[in-house]
Parts: sequence; structure tokens; C-alpha cells
Amino acid sequence: MDAFTQMYRHSIEEPDAFWAKQALCVDWQVPFTRVRNIDIGPDIVSIKWFADGTLNACHNCVDRHVDARGDQVAILWEGDEPGLAERITYRELHGAVCRLANGLRSLGIGKGDRVAIYLPMIPEAAISMLACARLGAVHSVVFGGFSAEALAGRIRDCGARVVVTANEGVRGGRTIPLKHNMDKALESCPFVEKCIVVGRTASQVDWVEGRDIRYLDLVDTMNAECEPEWMNAEDPLFILYTSGSTGKPKGVLHTTGGYLVACALSHRHVFDYRDGDIFWCTADVGWVTGHSYIVYGPLANGATTVMFEGIPTWPTPSRFWEICDRHGVTIFYTAPTAIRALMREGDEHVMRIDRSSLRILGSVGEPINPEAWRWYFEVVGEGRCPVIDTWWQTETGTIMIAPVPGVTPLKPGSAALPFFGVEPVLVDDAGRVLEGVAEGLLCLRDAGPGIMRTIHGDPARFIETYFRRFPGLYFTGDGCRRDEDGFYWITGRIDDVINVSGHRLGTAEIEGALVAHQAVAEAAVVGYPDAVKGQGIHAFVTLKAGEGETEALRQELRDFVRRQIGAIAQPDVIQWATALPKTRSGKIMRRILRKLAEGKVEELGDVSTLVDPGVVAALADVARARK
Ligand code: ATP
Ligand code: MG
Repeated sequence: MDAFTQMYRHSIEEPDAFWAKQALCVDWQVPFTRVRNIDIGPDIVSIKWFADGTLNACHNCVDRHVDARGDQVAILWEGDEPGLAERITYRELHGAVCRLANGLRSLGIGKGDRVAIYLPMIPEAAISMLACARLGAVHSVVFGGFSAEALAGRIRDCGARVVVTANEGVRGGRTIPLKHNMDKALESCPFVEKCIVVGRTASQVDWVEGRDIRYLDLVDTMNAECEPEWMNAEDPLFILYTSGSTGKPKGVLHTTGGYLVACALSHRHVFDYRDGDIFWCTADVGWVTGHSYIVYGPLANGATTVMFEGIPTWPTPSRFWEICDRHGVTIFYTAPTAIRALMREGDEHVMRIDRSSLRILGSVGEPINPEAWRWYFEVVGEGRCPVIDTWWQTETGTIMIAPVPGVTPLKPGSAALPFFGVEPVLVDDAGRVLEGVAEGLLCLRDAGPGIMRTIHGDPARFIETYFRRFPGLYFTGDGCRRDEDGFYWITGRIDDVINVSGHRLGTAEIEGALVAHQAVAEAAVVGYPDAVKGQGIHAFVTLKAGEGETEALRQELRDFVRRQIGAIAQPDVIQWATALPKTRSGKIMRRILRKLAEGKVEELGDVSTLVDPGVVAALADVARARK
């Protein structure tokens, strides 16, 4: 712990010296002489790292490993169908990436051009990202679960000239009509010149002559060598849209040098990555977690990274553990939504599979309630594997707050301590900095080199959203508590804090209390205006299979929350929900639940990132009836 604390202090007190040294974890074509150049003013925000250095992200993730570990598996792919797997070595990856890069180049793609990627979780997704990086083209990956409309919006916003998709995707035994969605999306994107189509299945799809190209036809005749484009450290690497939990998605722009250094360093330390580990991040590459911890972080470190096409519950809820067992996964990184879903299915699906290869368990995406944390730790990890709760955002690019395995003591539900170079600051509504034990709004005074540089096409929104409210600080939008040991506890988004009769309550805390009841599978809590109390508490509750939605249980849950937190936290309304509205990345969309609780069924806003609009329709019917 002392060594870690010392290194952390060094990273904050002498950032230039710290990062100048750490940045050597990647190869530079032209070494940088300047480390950081950050200017945060009221009207202009300029963040530059290693600004006069040049490098190539693809070279760092692929080429530089070919000599030392050419025969090591780089991408270990497990298909939707159990047992369907593919192992791509670093040498093979190099050939595949170069061929596609040459193919893209033959279509006129070069430095600065945008390429949209709408693919299932197949190796071609990572290969496409790397091929873009090789050419200096800016990729924008759109999650394969998004609708044609959501896809079109993102393609238009980033202005892609070329798109990459597949005829269809396969997930949980079902097919997803990706090419069909792409065709629909492209109707409103006439500027897209070419559509590259991977044949994931044997199905035939509609074809637009002159625009559509088969992936295999494109790469088949291409050379397996392709000189990388040497990029300035501050040249864009990708644009990625946030999940849209709080509003219209933002096109977050990340650049090359700082982002890659932050990926490599955090992947190594936060997961205690060592040579020989089999690293599996279950996220989709359509999310930042997939960018940083399936592709860029692990590959920059020469790791074997697992890519899984399917879902945790198909064909059975043992699927994750079977994959861990089959491939000897040592580090496993998933989201609370998946943990809760599997917890709901019962321990036997975990217990019957050997998990002895596992060493470290990670979590990301939402606050992990202590109940789920303990289940993950005790049942999945058999009490052996530290649970690493990692707090960060699409905007921060890489992990900001997390324990370091074997170093930081663990507290269920706390993301623990800031990572190197990260300086969290808690402030109150008026912007006063809070010291010591405190609860407030989480800002970052420093976030290291991986932080976003702007919102693509909307620099004003960038400043407005993150830098206007508290001058000199990056505002995260999340609430947070710091305890007596200096540990950080994320309490949820600011908007999710409710004020009942002058008491501020984090929705996460009430949700945690509800979920601790044995009948409850999942819960989401929001406030609604109340003439007397300021705000009332509305809980949406999903019960475990076999539990009855009775009035008696409702009362029992109210009492249960009262006993755990206090009478003030008792829900005024408990509404049964067969499912909760979630973003495609698995986060509960509380802004929609807020509207429902207020009875404003007609004002739900942008729902393009919802998994299943049917869930909202069902909840809205109840809201309407109540009105
Ligand atoms: P949008 O910004 O469009 O509303 P989003 O915030 O859901 O979407 P992401 O960047 O994917 O998009 O999510 C980051 C947010 O997720 C964080 O700000 C935080 O609210 C939540 N989060 C992520 N990891 C954790 C964690 N370990 N503990 C608590 N909250 C987390
Ligand atoms: Mg956000």
C-alpha cells in the first residue's frame, strides 16, 4: 500500500515527470518533448498531452508484439453457439488488419476520415477499429443492438464516408438484421460512399450495387503489409457516443497518445495484468469499456483478450462460467446488470462449473450494490478473487477510481481510491470544495491523459456540460461520498438524488435496501414532485421468479426499507415492473422512470438507446391509469 500511495502522490505532485516515464509503455515514432498542456478557461478548454510526439495506436497494439509473441493468441473469440471459437494470433491479427487497412485505403479512406462500424461481437469488429487506427481514420463504433434510426443519427453526426457492417448478427440464438438496419439508416445518409459487409451467416441480404462490398472480396486481394500512418499524439482516434442515460448522446472524441497510454497503464495496474493472463471483458465493443478493455488496453499490453458474441443467459445462465472454464480466463470484467441477472437465476448455475482459473473480478457501469458485490465475491469468486469496482465514463476514456488488487483493502460498494494521475474533488451545490469526510458532487481536478478532448461537432456543449458549472474542474455529473479512509462511494447521478422533506437521499441507497429483500430482483427509485414533502419516492420493483405481486409484500418492502435506512426513505409508491427500462449498455434509464412517476407519459424524450421500448409502454399504461 505504501508503494502505491507513494506512486500515486508522485503522479499528482509531479505529473510531468510521472507521465513522461509512464508514457514509455507505448512506442513513439517521434518521442514527445512536452508532457501536458492544459488550459481550462470559461470559454475555451484545451487539453493536450505529449503534443509533439507521434505514434500509431495500431502499431502499438499489433506490430510491436509480432516479433516477441507472434504465435500468442491475441483475440480469443467465442461465438454465440457454445463451443464455436476462433483463436487469432498476433501474427494473424497483423495480416488481417493490414489487409483491411489496405482495402479501406483503396476506397479512399485516409487520415481524418470517419468510418462507422456497426458489427456484432466478432473479430472483424476489433480488426476494423485497428485498421482505421492504422490509417489515421477515426472510427465510430455503434453498438449492434441499436435501431436503424439511432444508427443513422450517429452516422450523420460523425459524417462517416464508409461504414462496416455484417449481413446479420447472432445473439442468444437469434439473428439480428444488421445489414437491413444499415440499409434503412443509409437512406438518410447519402454522403456514405461504401458499405463493407461481413458475412457472419449464410443468409442473403439486399444489395446496393456500387455501394455495397463484401468484406472478403475487399481484403482477399490486398497485401498483408501496410505501413502505418504516423499520427500526432493529439490526432483523433475515435468518436464514441455516450449511452444516453441522461439525455441526447454526446459524440465523445478521444485522441491517440494520451488515450493509449492511459489504456495500457490502467489495464496493467487496475487488473494486476501479468504475462500469460487470459483477460475477458464482457462488454460490447460498441461501448467505451469494449474500446479500452477489449481492444486498446489489452492489446497494447500484448495480452490475450476474449471476445464473446453471445449473452450471459444463453443457452443457460452458466454460459459465462463455462467460457471462463473452457479458456482458462484469469481476469473477468463485467457489469452489475449482468451480475444481478445471474444472481437472480440462482447459485447452482455458477457452482456447477469450475472457476478455479479466475483470479480477479471487475465491475463497471453502475454502482454495484453491496448485495450483488457479496454474491460476486463469495459465490462467483469463492472468496478468493478481489472484486474491483471501477468508476469511470465514456468521457474519461479509462478507469478513474478503483481499488488496486492485492493492495487496496476492499469495501463492498465502494470504488475505493483514485488511479494514478486522477484527483477527485467533492464540491457542494455552490461549488465550495469539501474536505475530509463529505458527500457532494464529484469533479476531477485532474484526470490523466485519457480524458476526452471535445464533443465532436459541438465544442460549446463540451464546455457547457463539463467545465462551466465549477470553474477549473471537470464535472462528472455523479454524486459521491468520501469516507474516513478517503474511499469514494458513488451515490448515483446528481439527478438521482432526491430531496424528501429537506433530507437528501441517494436513489442508489434506497434501491440497495430494496434489492436486499429476498423477493426482489431489481429496483429503481426516482423522485416526483410532492406538495408537502418537496419530493416523494417512487420505486419500480421487479420481483424474483415465483414471487407474487401482493399488497402484503408491498407493505413488507416499505417496512424493510424503513428498518434499513429510516422512515424518511420509505417509498410512497411501489410499482411492480416485469422489467426496467434500460439503455443498450444495461443501465437503468431513470430519466424515463421520473417522467412516468410524474405522470408525464407524453414527455419521455430521446428513447433511441432503450433496449426494449415495450417495457416503457407497459409501465406507462399503469402511469396513465393512475392519472
Ligand atoms: P450519458 O452521459 O449519455 O447520459 P452515460 O453516462 O450512461 O450516458 P457512460 O459514459 O457509459 O454513459 O456511463 C458513465 C456513468 O456510469 C458514470 O458517470 C456513472 O454514473 C456510471 N458508472 C460507471 N461505472 C460506475 C461504477 N463503478 N460505480 C458507479 N457508477 C458508475
Ligand atoms: Mg454520462
